[in-house]
Amino acid sequence: MEATTQTAEAVRHVAIAGNPNSGKSTIFNALTGLRQKVGNYPGVTVEKKTGRFFGSHGQAMELLDLPGSYSLQVRSPDEAVARDVLLGRIEGTQRPDVIICVVDASNLERNLYLVAQVLEMQIPTVVALNMVDVAEKNGHVIDVSALGEQLGVPVIPTIAPKGHGLVELKQAVSAASLPKPVKHAPMPEIIDREARSLAEKLHFAPEIAYPEALLLLTLHDRSLIELAANDKEIVKATLDAQKDILAAGLDPISAPVEARYAWIQAICDKAVRKPGHQHLSTISDRLDMILTHRILGWVAFLGAMAFMFFCIFTVAQVPMNWINSVFDALGKWVAGHMPDSDLRGLLTDGIIAGVGGVVVFLPQILILYFFLGILEDTGYMARAAFIMDRLMSRVGLHGKSFIPMLSSFACAIPGIMATRTVENRKDRLVTILVAPLMSCSARLPVYALMIAVLMPVASSLQKAGIMLCMYVVGIVAAFAMAWLFKKTLLRSETPMLLLEMPPYRMPSWKGVAIRMWERAGLFLRRAGTVILALSILLWALATFPKPSDPKASPADALAQSVAGRMGHAIEPAIAPLGFDWKIGIGLIGSFAAREVFVSTMSIVYNVETSDKENIAPLRDTMRNERRADGRPVYTPLICIGLMVFYVLAMQCISTVAIVRRETNSWRWPLFQIAYMTALAWIGAFAVYQGGRLLGWQ
Ligand code: GDP
Ligand code: MG
Repeated sequence: MEATTQTAEAVRHVAIAGNPNSGKSTIFNALTGLRQKVGNYPGVTVEKKTGRFFGSHGQAMELLDLPGSYSLQVRSPDEAVARDVLLGRIEGTQRPDVIICVVDASNLERNLYLVAQVLEMQIPTVVALNMVDVAEKNGHVIDVSALGEQLGVPVIPTIAPKGHGLVELKQAVSAASLPKPVKHAPMPEIIDREARSLAEKLHFAPEIAYPEALLLLTLHDRSLIELAANDKEIVKATLDAQKDILAAGLDPISAPVEARYAWIQAICDKAVRKPGHQHLSTISDRLDMILTHRILGWVAFLGAMAFMFFCIFTVAQVPMNWINSVFDALGKWVAGHMPDSDLRGLLTDGIIAGVGGVVVFLPQILILYFFLGILEDTGYMARAAFIMDRLMSRVGLHGKSFIPMLSSFACAIPGIMATRTVENRKDRLVTILVAPLMSCSARLPVYALMIAVLMPVASSLQKAGIMLCMYVVGIVAAFAMAWLFKKTLLRSETPMLLLEMPPYRMPSWKGVAIRMWERAGLFLRRAGTVILALSILLWALATFPKPSDPKASPADALAQSVAGRMGHAIEPAIAPLGFDWKIGIGLIGSFAAREVFVSTMSIVYNVETSDKENIAPLRDTMRNERRADGRPVYTPLICIGLMVFYVLAMQCISTVAIVRRETNSWRWPLFQIAYMTALAWIGAFAVYQGGRLLGWQ
């Protein structure tokens, strides 16, 4: 017993606070390495990242990466978590013993606002003055010791990705005795007085009461009730205090904010020297002239996208061939070493064909994440959001909604979670509703397969062009639907918003590599679990019940199987789109996850072929597939129609689950499934019937 309490006390709890993109995670990763744990805060969907490291004298330290926040006057659930951790109000999360407050040195004034508020928390604090390389490049000269003296806490200059300053940072948080901050922004006298008397009325620990009171004073209505945890007495006391301040001629909400900024200004005047006004001096400004230009910006954006898809088709080809031949060889080996049986069928036609059909696309998905990682790290994503902002404002949303949509290119799930930064509730819902229209990485295998069927010998450039078109169809559909929803279901005023433009940076290769590694893991785990299970299920559905006539051809057997019957059952609904019942089987499977289409088609055509020794690549089988009347099944119109269907349809159980969680009701996810399925049907119908009207086939 004695021993456990002692170790519990010996662990020092350190929290990393800072603005988004200031380098918190980089510092967190550098300090903890792989000793990390990711969980959730109770009751909210904000990620909780903790890790362990050893202080410079070997003490155990528990490090917590707080969600990025600009201030503690909360504007988003993420910021609420950061604030509540600092106030020690979160169950299961200890109030930190030390705070590392990370600031972006190239954007010092804005970043110091959070520092000012953190210092009010009366927790020992160390400031990591990060990105000093960028500040230096921009010509800012920061007098570190003057800054430390003014703030009254240690300031350690760092360049996190290079590891510069991290030893010193570790030393600073390992110091045996860490004093509480002695300085903070002086508040106008009346505010100080009211905050003190309000603090006495709060039930919290005395050292938290004053900062908490100060926070309460600067809030109104909903946020106030939330922070006061619905305690009517506290709300009333706060409102009274606000009235007193107002009576004294000060605005209780803005006065503390102004006091902090005035303090910061004075500090910066002493500690920072900036270059005189040199217009367009930095490379960043010059790049922005091009990348946010109203025409050139679009050229650059589409060019970047086209280049990405071009690489997806060229570079990925070689490793894809390897993976293909491995699964091929594996299938042949199993087929050659086992007697013909259902088990052999399950292994070759079900598992190897199904899982292999999807795993082949791993290289393309890695390349996609490589580019998305670089675009994000360099700061280009913010520029893309900026050009999009002009379009978004036409449909009544602002660029902030585009960031979740951009993340949805990778996967709708992080995209939908990113909508938490959208403050207006209705705008957030609109964004959630349209985010899955952005083509996610799970669509990539489907597009790639259909493009291969459509144009087996075309150049990579042409293939990339078609793929780009599909992404554009998704973007246009998302905008159109957003416009429609804003006009009808979810009308509301959208406030003007200034976007944050982070400076351009060299991407961190390590960070990009880690993200690709994580994604590859997720993708393979999915292939090994969900896709594997669905492959087995679909193989069984495509194999049983067996035809009573043992001489029935495999094709007839497939038609009589459960899957065959399901496909036939929905055939009337998809016949107007030109799809046959086998495509129907693929569509049904895809409602669990889009990429299942590829494995389903592998299974369907594998079960169907009798020549087991000589399985042609799926692409060729599909090209040779004929209808009863001898016409090909996969005409160009059908291929394009199918792709359009996949652009628009809501086919992902995980996304449905996330939307349910984020909207806290079944209403919105069900509505989303309904409208997106309808949209997909109409889109494919328009392609097929429209094309036929024009005389194409
Ligand atoms: P967070 O949002 O605060 O967690 O920020 P991250 O740790 O994800 O960092 C955002 C980006 O800034 C990443 O691309 C980092 O590689 C980059 N970065 C972080 N610290 C520095 C630094 O000191 N110098 C430079 N040049 N880039 C940095
Ligand atoms: Mg981070």
